[in-house]
Amino acid sequence: MKSTFRVYAETFLMKDLLQGMWMTLKYMFKRKVTLAYPHEKGHLSPRFRGQHALRRYASGEERCIGCKLCEAVCPAQAITIDVAPRTDDGSRRTTRYDIDMTKCIYCGLCEESCPVDAIVEGPNFEYATETREELFYEKEKLLDNGDRWEAALQARLSHPRR
Ligand code: SF4
Ligand code: SF4
Repeated sequence: MKSTFRVYAETFLMKDLLQGMWMTLKYMFKRKVTLAYPHEKGHLSPRFRGQHALRRYASGEERCIGCKLCEAVCPAQAITIDVAPRTDDGSRRTTRYDIDMTKCIYCGLCEESCPVDAIVEGPNFEYATETREELFYEKEKLLDNGDRWEAALQARLSHPRR
């Protein structure tokens, strides 16, 4: 336990303040380890699992063929799909593709199960919302995500450590 004299002496000499200033000076010229987020962003691993997206082919055609494998494999039962044959060519397509992002545990099984790389988890991690309802994603939202992130998704899907 410090003596009363020592406490007074340290206060009078501003020991704590000088120690703090010395610490600041010591690190002032060292390499910065912090980022000025959101203006600067850190490296993302190619294995990062972020916001979901539904992809299209270069022709604009939806990749999803409505096989429902992702819905069946999802351990959180977050995916709901309805399917019907398309009127023009009879091909099987989804009429509804919903993901409840409040249930999703980001396991990546939906992406792994998809035979045509339609449902993927993209690099976007900035999709916090103010309400739960905004995290109930519908097909249009997922397709929009796919259109928006396609270049990054292609680069990530072609990564050898995928
Ligand atoms: S990442 Fe996992 S929990 Fe989330 S939707 Fe896909 S399968 Fe379901
Ligand atoms: S996203 Fe893939 S796994 Fe899911 S229904 Fe469509 S084609 Fe099947």
